[in-house]
Amino acid sequence: MDCLFCKIINGEIPSAKVYEDEFVYSFKDISPIAPVHYLIVPKQHICCANAIDETNSAVVAKIFEAAAKIAKAEGIESYRIINNCGDDAGQTVKHLHFHMLAGVKMGWGAESLGKTE
Ligand code: 5GP
Ligand code: ZN
Repeated sequence: MDCLFCKIINGEIPSAKVYEDEFVYSFKDISPIAPVHYLIVPKQHICCANAIDETNSAVVAKIFEAAAKIAKAEGIESYRIINNCGDDAGQTVKHLHFHMLAGVKMGWGAESLGKTE
């Protein structure tokens, strides 16, 4: 399958690995928007959050287990996890992934959504 993150997971494309287990792979985002910006992805190819159902939803728990392990291992006390689902939300890679952001005081609110037109 021609999927960037599948290629990263199977080692065809190099990445800066942060964490790996049976279900999950985590690596540094190539264009970080925060001092800590990791991507946490299920090894199983799932296109997006909208494709999560009762057959595959267990991987989402594994994603959050991995985030907690990564945070503990790296001494990260506070972090934000973001999933973009679909084009308007800014999903550019169609393999389910969660952004883990940390290392900066983050804002919240409508302004964080940027231009909506
Ligand atoms: P999305 O916009 O789909 O939510 O997030 C995709 C993320 O993947 C972006 O933050 C982008 O910087 C990151 N990305 C795209 N291509 C690569 C790559 O080849 N390697 C790594 N490490 N990150 C990538
Ligand atoms: Zn994939």
